[in-house]
Amino acid sequence: MKRVVLLGGGHAHAYVLRMLIGEPLHDARLTLVTPTDRHTYSGMLPGLVAGHYAVDDVQIDVARLAAAANVEFVRAEVSGLDADQRRVTLANGETLAYDFASLNLGSLPSTAAVPGSEMHALAAKPFERFLEGWRDLLARSESAPLALALVGAGAAGVELAMAIAYRLTMLGRRGDVALYSDRPMFSGALARRVRAALARSGVQLLEPEAVTRIEPGGVVVTRAGRSRYDAVIWTAGAAPLPWLRATGLDTDAVGFVQVDDTLRSTSHPEVFAVGDCATLRDHPHPKSGVYAVRHGDFLARNLRYALAEVPLHRYRPQHRALALLSCGARTAIADWSGWTAEGEWVWRWKDWIDRRWIRRFML
Ligand SMILES: Cc1cc2nc3c(=O)[nH]c(=O)nc-3n(C[C@H](O)[C@H](O)[C@H](O)COP(=O)(O)OP(=O)(O)OC[C@H]3O[C@@H](n4cnc5c(N)ncnc54)[C@H](O)[C@@H]3O)c2cc1C
Repeated sequence: MKRVVLLGGGHAHAYVLRMLIGEPLHDARLTLVTPTDRHTYSGMLPGLVAGHYAVDDVQIDVARLAAAANVEFVRAEVSGLDADQRRVTLANGETLAYDFASLNLGSLPSTAAVPGSEMHALAAKPFERFLEGWRDLLARSESAPLALALVGAGAAGVELAMAIAYRLTMLGRRGDVALYSDRPMFSGALARRVRAALARSGVQLLEPEAVTRIEPGGVVVTRAGRSRYDAVIWTAGAAPLPWLRATGLDTDAVGFVQVDDTLRSTSHPEVFAVGDCATLRDHPHPKSGVYAVRHGDFLARNLRYALAEVPLHRYRPQHRALALLSCGARTAIADWSGWTAEGEWVWRWKDWIDRRWIRRFML
C-alpha cells in the first residue's frame, strides 16, 4: 500500500476526489489534509459578496467528497514538509509520512512589500477569513456609512470592489469604495470597459497610485498623502505560503514550488504541485483558477500513472484563457485575447459556466 497525501483542498484536488469516486486507486491509501470541510470557489466569490449567491452555492464540500472517494479526511493546516524525509508536519504538531504527496495549497495576496498590509488590512485570501471580515463590515454598515479601500486592481480587486459597491447600494446602505492600483489597470479595450464599469458602479479608481504603507485604523499611505477608511481590503498579487521555501523542494525565484510538465517537483518527483502554489518551469502561466482547474484533470491521471509506474502525461498550458469579470450587478465583461464583450448575457454565460462546474461536486 502506497501512502498518498493530498495537501490542500483546492480546485485540482476537488477534481481528483471527484474522479476517484468512479475510479478508485488500488494499492494506495489516500489522505486529504485541509483546514476546512468546504472549499470556496473563487470564480463565484464576488457573486456571493454581491448577494447573487448563497454560501452553499459557491462551496464544494471536500470532506464529503473525500468520504465518497474513500479518502481519509484530516481537518488541519499543513505547517511544513520535509521532502527528503517524505514527511508532512501539521500545525497541531502531528506528522504524516508519505510515498507520494500532492500540493494544492493556493497562494496568498502578496503583502510582504508594503509595511502594515499584513497587520492592518483584510486579505482577500484565505476566503473563509475574508468572508468573516466581510460579514463584520456589512453589519457595521447597518449603523454608519462605510468607507472601504481595496488595494490591487487585478481581476480579483476589480470584481470585489464592484460587488461590494453593488451590495451596499442594494441594501440601501451608504458607503464609498476606492480601488488603488500601482499601475495602469489592464490594457486596450478591456481596460476601457473595466474603467467604465467601475465608474458606473460608483467605485473610485485611483491609478497609478502606489500604496506604500497601511497604518492602524484603516489609513492608506501613498505619495499623494494619507487617507482614512473604515477598512482596507488587500487583493494585490499572489505570494507563496512562506514555509514552502523550507521544504527542500525546488522553488522559483518567489518561492512557489517548481514543477516540470508532468506537474511533479523538479527536485523530488514523488511530489506533485498544482494550482497557484506551483510554477511550471518550462511553461510558466498566470496564477488563476482557470489553470488550477485544468491541472486537476492532469493530476488525476498522472497520480494514477505514477502509482502504476508507467510514463506520465505532459501538460501544456493553453496560451489563451477566457476571462469573465463580473461587474457587481448581473452584468459581466468577457476578454479573449483582446476580443471583448459585455452585458447581462455575459453574466448569464459566466453564471452558467460557474454553476455547471460546481454542480460536478454536489453529491
Ligand atoms: C476575490 C478573488 C476572485 C477571483 N476570481 C477568479 C476568477 O473569476 N477566475 C479565476 O480563474 N481566478 C480567480 N481568482 C484567482 C483564484 O482564486 C486562484 O487562482 C485559485 O483559487 C487557485 O486555485 P488553487 O486550487 O490553486 O488554490 P485555492 O483555491 O486557494 O485552494 C487552496 C486550498 O488549500 C487550502 N490550504 C491553504 N493553506 C493550507 C495549509 N497550510 N494546509 C492545508 N491546506 C491549506 C485552502 O484552504 C484551500 O482549500 C480570484 C481570486 C480572488 C482573490
